[in-house]
Amino acid sequence: MQIVFVGPPGAGKGTQALRLKVYLGVVHLSTGDMFREAEQAGTELGRQAAEFFRAGKLVPDDVVIGIIAERLQQPDCDAGCLFDGFPRTVSQAVALDAMLAQRGRPIDLVLALEVADEVVTERLVGRGRMDDSPVTIRERLRQYYQLTKPLIEYYRRQGLLRTIDGTGTEDQVFARVRAAIDVASAAGS
Ligand code: ADP
Repeated sequence: MQIVFVGPPGAGKGTQALRLKVYLGVVHLSTGDMFREAEQAGTELGRQAAEFFRAGKLVPDDVVIGIIAERLQQPDCDAGCLFDGFPRTVSQAVALDAMLAQRGRPIDLVLALEVADEVVTERLVGRGRMDDSPVTIRERLRQYYQLTKPLIEYYRRQGLLRTIDGTGTEDQVFARVRAAIDVASAAGS
């Protein structure tokens, strides 16, 4: 299965994606993790990306699309992927559709985790990652509404969207995620 997680920063995409990866046995692709790893490894890509993510800005589309295109070439992606934090703009979504169409494995399902701004802000402040300062969080939410939220409509029009209430405990949210997956796989088989 090819599954995409969308939602504001702090919605719990990473947490739920890790659990779903175990449940489905598919590869988890987090562009945020890829950029942080590249930065720690001291690569040029990492240095460039860090300038953006430290400021709460999105990394430019061509950079992000490039690393995903490269990653999808690896054989472990053949069984399907869980995309977490990608796509984050409509042009990234269009690029992903093209890459997956070429492989004959289009997106099966898009899970949109819904959490109110006050709740995500509280969660991000509590998480305390270096890009989680109050000013950066505000900027990331602004970028989310401006650039990422339109994706929800994009996928709704394709009939792929399932919205999930992202409030409550991790277990409660995962039960909703699993229910959405089970319904979709029953319908698809
Ligand atoms: P969060 O957990 O807040 O959703 P991520 O770990 O997914 O954040 O991403 C951290 C940062 O990496 C983002 O704020 C952004 O700067 C950059 N980033 C990650 N994925 C993308 C993407 N698909 N497009 C542009 N920038 C991205």
